[in-house]
Amino acid sequence: MRKKVIAGNWKMNMLPNETINFIDKFSKLVKDSENEIILCVPFVDLFYALLHVQGTNIKIGAQNMYWEEKGAFTGEISGNMLKSIGVEYVIIGHSERRAYFAETDEIVNKKIKAALKCKLKPIICVGETLEQREQGKAIEIIKLQIQEAFKDIDKNDMENIIIAYEPIWAIGTGKTATSEDANNTIKAIREEISKIYGQDVAKRVIMQYGGSVKSSNSQELFSMSDIDGGLVGGASLDAEEFSKIANYK
Ligand code: PEP
Repeated sequence: MRKKVIAGNWKMNMLPNETINFIDKFSKLVKDSENEIILCVPFVDLFYALLHVQGTNIKIGAQNMYWEEKGAFTGEISGNMLKSIGVEYVIIGHSERRAYFAETDEIVNKKIKAALKCKLKPIICVGETLEQREQGKAIEIIKLQIQEAFKDIDKNDMENIIIAYEPIWAIGTGKTATSEDANNTIKAIREEISKIYGQDVAKRVIMQYGGSVKSSNSQELFSMSDIDGGLVGGASLDAEEFSKIANYK
């Protein structure tokens, strides 16, 4: 039985003092949750967040990293830097990074390898555009993203990986995939993982849905057979709203 993993992606929101206030409130609201709860916060908030989640059931993730270990890469952050302060997760290949920062599947693959090398757990985002969906190409595109992302990734690393299916047309738009649609796409992702690593691995990998998840739709989405929780953007910025999602039973 796979556990539910619910991760908040704050994107470029929240200052350190807001992070501290959020965690103080949120940690009390989710203290009895049976799910794994992750907050993926901006780089400058990481250290404050890590200090304030001590003694709680909340884990901390970053939203991006660079694939090189160190060197002349002005403005970049390495996996080792994240690991050294206690970060556990890192989002890789979010559609906003693919769209605005030209991240390709090849870059996503390099970042996954670099993250695993430093024992960070990647949350790997895949998903189709509206145009690709309307052309009936969604599954084909996502399968390609999966094949590229997992090139030369060792089977033994799969237990430390989360896949987030995020249809791009549903991110930040208020539009959500129907629970059946999201579940069927995630089943197709599981099949693709099964082709690469075998069924035993595929049935253990945590696969989230992301795209306008809120407390009014999370219950239905997370109760689907193949959806193991969610990657939540906008709704994760409000402690009360996000706690309702994170307390899924
Ligand atoms: C996201 O940032 O990954 C996301 C799914 O955003 P939202 O929940 O706001 O659609």
